[in-house]
Amino acid sequence: MKYLSTRGAGNDLTFKNILFAGLASDGGLYVPEKWPVIDFNKLKSLNSYSDLALEIIYPFINNDIGKEELKKLINNAYADFSKKDIITFKMLKQKETVVELFNGPTLAFKDFAMQLIVPIFDYYLSKENKKLNLIVATSGDTGSAAISAVQASPNINIFCLFPKGRISKFQRKQMSTLYGKNIFPIEIDGTFDDCQNIVKTILIDKVFSEEFYIAAVNSINWSRVMIQIVYYFHTLIVNNVTFDEPINFSVPTGNFGDIYAGYVAYKMGLPINKLIIATNENDILDRFLKTGVYSIGEVTKTTSPSMDIAIASNFERLLFDLCNKSTSETSAKMIELDEAKRFSLNNSQVNKAKNIFDSKKVSQEEVSKLIQETYNKFNYIIDPHTAIGLSASRSINDSLSNNFILSTAHPIKFSETVEKAIGRSMDEHEEYADMFKKEEKFYSLDNSTNKVKEIIKSNYNR
Ligand SMILES: *Cc1c(COP(=O)(O)O)cnc(C)c1O
Repeated sequence: MKYLSTRGAGNDLTFKNILFAGLASDGGLYVPEKWPVIDFNKLKSLNSYSDLALEIIYPFINNDIGKEELKKLINNAYADFSKKDIITFKMLKQKETVVELFNGPTLAFKDFAMQLIVPIFDYYLSKENKKLNLIVATSGDTGSAAISAVQASPNINIFCLFPKGRISKFQRKQMSTLYGKNIFPIEIDGTFDDCQNIVKTILIDKVFSEEFYIAAVNSINWSRVMIQIVYYFHTLIVNNVTFDEPINFSVPTGNFGDIYAGYVAYKMGLPINKLIIATNENDILDRFLKTGVYSIGEVTKTTSPSMDIAIASNFERLLFDLCNKSTSETSAKMIELDEAKRFSLNNSQVNKAKNIFDSKKVSQEEVSKLIQETYNKFNYIIDPHTAIGLSASRSINDSLSNNFILSTAHPIKFSETVEKAIGRSMDEHEEYADMFKKEEKFYSLDNSTNKVKEIIKSNYNR
């Protein structure tokens, strides 16, 4: 498989090239030059999640890593999940199933990608005897998942930027109480978008990023999307879906990474009817789908902080398809976005998106009400992000379709909000019982790329 940038710089790149680069030099995102076509019926005969992951991921990596090596990496990656079935399902009622993606070590779906990407980095680094510095911007969950995965790595230091006062206490403590000597949590006085901008600025600064051998693991890194494709297939296989009825996925969405993985699954031949973009008040994608105008608003702080994002970076990958893979048109739109804070697409482009996507914005009041209602009715506690997915699913779907709602995080991560809604305190999570007693250690910086660079200069892995 070869890769290219959505804005035209570089082509013929290998998986390893784009894994380490993260972002293209022209600011574009890497995409595979074609979609591997997968035979769903053949996949059905595979026995385990790991076997399925191998079949789906391998075509994107090819000989960059041998199939046997990749198989080992995948098997190890998911060994630490708390449940034997690493994805569990909760059917709330007929044709309404919650897909629990929070059984990993840090209790959010981000573990799926991080637990595998870090060993893949290590695989290359050990072979070449190199040290890497990872940088990541987080709206809360990516950071803890990345830190947890990097903790034991001899080859990697991680610098993790999170927005001050805009993630939950639980999320912050997951990053600030591990203390590994290769771990550097950094609070930025700004929003997630500011953090993401610092990461992009550092990556595009080739002099700096080459000197300090820097890579990034935000969802702008293709490898994360690639790994998340697997659970769309897995969900439909495990639930014995027959496709006699329309199959929809509702996905709580911020940076458009998780749902874009669903889109890739669809492009690879999984017959999904609709992918529902479920958003909170930060609704750039919902507004786009309704009006054809993609326009950056102010970030609103909500009870679903992992989705408090003004710009959905991965949307550029869909935009590239909507522009019929024209790198010049994609590039022009993104430059327009930079300068005018908006661009618009024509009707035929928007309709192409509407063929597979639908969208719904869900308010914080609705979230709170639905957490309460779900608890009362089903004795089942959902987190605020999942509530957005569930609410969107119900408001869009009819009784004919079979609906899967991705549950992106364990409710304990957002206990302040959840406890208020259900009117009682939650049971402690046993693996995290001690965390709240530990002292927190992290840097606290202004919204400044240079200050982050200083921290990297004094702590990089060499
Ligand atoms: C990251 C995250 C999301 C949003 O995922 P994207 O890939 O950014 O769209 C939703 N819910 C939770 C709990 C998350 O951590």
